[in-house]
Amino acid sequence: MRPSFRCLQVLHSASPRAKSVSFIGLGHMGREMAFNLFSKQLALEPETSRFVVCDAIPEAAQAFQRNFEIHFPGSKITIAKTPAEAALASQTVITMLPSSPHVQQVYTQPDSGILPALRTLSEEQAEDSLFIDSTTLDVRVAQDVAELVARTGGQMVDAPVSGGVVGAKAGTLSFLVGGTEEAYHLASPLLARMGQRIIHCGPSGSGLAAKICNNLVLGIQQIAISEAMLLGQGLGLDPAVLAGVVNSSTGNCWASNTNNPVPGALPEKSPPCERDYEGGFATALMLKDLGLASSIAKARNSPLPLGEVAEKIYAQVIDSNESLIRKDFSSVYLHLRDQMERR
Ligand code: NAD
Repeated sequence: MRPSFRCLQVLHSASPRAKSVSFIGLGHMGREMAFNLFSKQLALEPETSRFVVCDAIPEAAQAFQRNFEIHFPGSKITIAKTPAEAALASQTVITMLPSSPHVQQVYTQPDSGILPALRTLSEEQAEDSLFIDSTTLDVRVAQDVAELVARTGGQMVDAPVSGGVVGAKAGTLSFLVGGTEEAYHLASPLLARMGQRIIHCGPSGSGLAAKICNNLVLGIQQIAISEAMLLGQGLGLDPAVLAGVVNSSTGNCWASNTNNPVPGALPEKSPPCERDYEGGFATALMLKDLGLASSIAKARNSPLPLGEVAEKIYAQVIDSNESLIRKDFSSVYLHLRDQMERR
């Protein structure tokens, strides 16, 4: 029989394993999120908090450990060699990985994965385990993994984020959560240490569904703004004047008022285009998210005429100039400008 929510909360605070939190995936987002989570947890329970980190690149885990221990001397950070080790050490595990294959590997890989480890624990220990996956990945893959976790008695939520590296560092992320009420309530206090808004979107997979739909809108809007800014300049408009008009008119959107792709268009802000398109949301990640949207739309027979074209355009951005893979996706503007110049 499954324990009640109240019972889970008690289990969650009683055992030594309960005091430990593992974070797997210390890339651009994960290392900032883990830093906020661990430092806030440490402030709450300085004597008993234990932390475990794990990354496929051992240097990433070592660099995190070094940096955290410089900021918090005496803190206890252990490096797990495998996700299995991380899951055995902590009853709460957060994963922040690139995409579906990585999540599948981390959870299901024989021997080194989380699920095989979970199956070696006592029924009680497995049942009081909580998994929070903040990766943006395929909805069905996430639901399958959550179902496998549920079969062990553990709890899992998908909790993808909005807010980028800047939001991860500032602790202002929005979390879009999919899972049961119980799992959402268990995950919320931890998510609140890494973000400002925590939205329960519905059952397992719903957080990802919301994230994918939002990024579908964003990817299309960034292309539309790039087209308009290019055309407007061609018609003799100053970029700052045009951006000012759009941002106070019906074309207003984040892609224009915060992430405008033209240097000088937002004199009081500093979007990635002012730093040669560095430090934003990578074109490769936007392409991945549009791929997730088109694949789930196909499976659901939901038409995606603009989304499919947007996906092709971001693929062309990368094909035509490999250096734009890691640059902010607003660099689609550079791609369109190159096309115009070649005509
Ligand atoms: P990243 O590539 O910088 O980091 C991923 C980390 O996971 C890397 O350190 C990598 O070594 C590690 N990893 C990969 N496979 C692993 C494995 N099998 N075991 C352990 N570690 C493994 O990616 P990121 O920018 O931090 O993004 C993470 C997720 O967040 C992605 O799904 C992305 O779409 C989403 N996201 C990113 C941003 C952003 O601005 N970067 C914004 C919102 C959402």
